[in-house]
Amino acid sequence: MASEHQILHGIGVCAGTASGPVAFVTEAPGIDENEPKCTDVEADTARLEAARDKVVAQLKARAEKATDEKSRGVLNATSQMAGDKGLFKSIVKHLKAGEGMTHAVSAAGDEYAAKLSKLGGYFAERVTDINDVRNRLVAELRGLPAPGVPDITEPVIIVARDLAPAETATLHPDTVLGIVTQEGGPTSHTAILAAQLGIPCSVKTKGALDAINSGDTVAIDGGVGEVIVSPTSDEVSQLKDRAERRARALAGSSGEGATRDGHKVALLANIGTVDDALNAAKFDLEGSGLFRSEFLFLGRDEAPSLEEQTETYSKVLRAFGDRHVVVRTLDAGADKPLKFANQEHEENPALGVRGLRLGMRRVDLLDTQLQALANAYKETGGDLWVMAPMVSTVDEAEWFAGKARSYGLPKVGVMVEVPAAAIRSAQILSVVDFCSIGTNDLSQYTMAADRLNGELANLLTPWQPAVLHMIKAACDGGAATGKHVGVCGEAGGDPLMALVLTGLGVQSLSMAPTKVNAVRAALRMHDFGTCQQMAAYALDARTAEDARKAVIALADPMLLDLL
Ligand code: PEP
Ligand code: MG
Repeated sequence: MASEHQILHGIGVCAGTASGPVAFVTEAPGIDENEPKCTDVEADTARLEAARDKVVAQLKARAEKATDEKSRGVLNATSQMAGDKGLFKSIVKHLKAGEGMTHAVSAAGDEYAAKLSKLGGYFAERVTDINDVRNRLVAELRGLPAPGVPDITEPVIIVARDLAPAETATLHPDTVLGIVTQEGGPTSHTAILAAQLGIPCSVKTKGALDAINSGDTVAIDGGVGEVIVSPTSDEVSQLKDRAERRARALAGSSGEGATRDGHKVALLANIGTVDDALNAAKFDLEGSGLFRSEFLFLGRDEAPSLEEQTETYSKVLRAFGDRHVVVRTLDAGADKPLKFANQEHEENPALGVRGLRLGMRRVDLLDTQLQALANAYKETGGDLWVMAPMVSTVDEAEWFAGKARSYGLPKVGVMVEVPAAAIRSAQILSVVDFCSIGTNDLSQYTMAADRLNGELANLLTPWQPAVLHMIKAACDGGAATGKHVGVCGEAGGDPLMALVLTGLGVQSLSMAPTKVNAVRAALRMHDFGTCQQMAAYALDARTAEDARKAVIALADPMLLDLL
């Protein structure tokens, strides 16, 4: 019997509407509380070996079936982790201590996860992968179905407590109409990957697992984070209407970004890999406003060579032809630590040696990168802009600009991610060619709220008037010096916020490529004067919520269909 009609609320992280049957992600089975203790280590080791081989084979098979390189990469990485010798040895150690099979797997998995967690940042994010491996092994040993996404034969809406990156990476927009998770947050893997795939998605959807049962139909609005369990036919047709209105609002969204009266705002893509560049370049957009070059360095024992870096940057530049590409130099540290560069332990890594602070201490790394960028620039003749992350002072900006220019790089800038840089942007811009506001970190540092902590989502929003004042300060510096000010944080991809940023004086917005159409359509609906008025109202608002409401009140009603 279908579940009771109910409307659930979550955080919408990828706009779009859908309705359809649900498919549950099988939950991890947990350890077998009644299992016997280990009395025959050899026999249990053989059973463990067989289970491990099966799990590795399952993951490899899924990797082979994956349709894109990113999913394949994630699944292969998880299968490697499943075959990790260290993990196997540690399980055997627990068996030797007399623990039952699933207890041993679980304890060894937890130890491994704790080690990764302690390393922090990128490594801590791999904890989800190790948990996935542990759960698969336990399920295999218990003879239960593998946890995770079931085989999908018809278009469905996926419902899960949360999704491991390996699971999300295998989803395909042709068969997955929507995603509803009970946990996770707007910066979780689920959210980022869903946005990249363009699948409507609601995360942190309260009560989803209690309210939805197998056999149910649900409808989702991934823009506002609304999930309707057993929707009425009226509701489904309202959502369909909304989807049609959204399609109409998006129709004809093409060409340069500009307001209705022709005030230009360049629309750009955020990318992290060569694949991202090739994919983004297919979209109707004006270039890339942020290439997160650190993705080339993460998870390695040593830095990529000059040759490898030159090749990567050349490929990225070639992908965009004569469109411009902003490459950010290595932003390691805090949530993205590098084994070979960052200090092993910092009390407060987000306030520690990260971004350019690391570049100034490991000049060898920065020199190689700048040389590789200069080589790629010469080889391709592309429109290359280069910027440094996490700059706090004029001295740092000047040091970086001097260094980058000494390699013959034509356009040098810095990111504004720290309040100190926002407040002093005129002075900073006087020594560089442009700046790009990283609203993710600028929100984190303005509000003193860890960007990875889903609990603090209400403080982390760029709608916080204090954050908007920081952005305004950065734009005022741009106006005073006549230099370019862009935005490359997530805020740029929100059609409503894009209007406010434009009104504040931002000249380019960089975002997930799937978000460009909606932002372009939003700009086309409004005059620059209205954007300025929206910015003024948002700056004056008492709270983040009031700021958003005030801007909605000034917006063209059709804009609501884009959110
Ligand atoms: C930002 O901080 O807004 C930004 C774009 O950089 P990252 O998200 O990579 O820290
Ligand atoms: Mg940042």
